[in-house]
Amino acid sequence: QNQPCREFHIVVLGAGGVGKSCLTAQFVHHEWIESYDPTIEDSYRTQVSIDGRQVVLEILDTAGTDQFVAMRDLYMKTGQGFLLVFSITSKSSLAELVNLREEIIRIKDDESVPIVIAGNKADLEDQRAVERAKAFSLSQRWEAPYYETSARTKTNVDEVFVDLCRQMLRRDDT
Ligand code: GDP
Ligand code: MG
Repeated sequence: QNQPCREFHIVVLGAGGVGKSCLTAQFVHHEWIESYDPTIEDSYRTQVSIDGRQVVLEILDTAGTDQFVAMRDLYMKTGQGFLLVFSITSKSSLAELVNLREEIIRIKDDESVPIVIAGNKADLEDQRAVERAKAFSLSQRWEAPYYETSARTKTNVDEVFVDLCRQMLRRDDT
């Protein structure tokens, strides 16, 4: 059965420095680059095969600096799936996700919008500041899956994007 190619908009959100650009680059270009301009906001187009279905993704890697706050409403409206990234080395970066999720739900007026939570920099276990259990309980409350990722070691990078795609496909089917 030949199903039409779907296209989805993904928005990558989180505090500055958590690894949004590194995760996006690992997924789209399969490369690790140590450093990105933290103020650059860019979108990337890529095609993936999910359970035998072709999906085109438009991924917006947000910068979250104040000058972009006005744009936030717009991309939150356009976004169909949200990758919420924090760093396991920073408690405040997890707290930031609470605000971002509230904003998404308010703007989309939808409690069940596809979300995946990524606790990035999992390779820095010796600098861990957020217990896995703490992030996990938040993810259960939000009914959003939680993954610990590392853009550096390419751990769970494809998995977070694929999970988000599956959620968006499921929602599209119903
Ligand atoms: P953004 O501001 O969220 O886009 O963060 P970046 O992707 O620019 O990354 C910020 C910093 O964290 C850079 O110095 C990266 O090298 C580093 N970084 C990003 N992801 C990882 C990771 O998984 N592990 C480690 N150890 N460092 C990371
Ligand atoms: Mg960035």
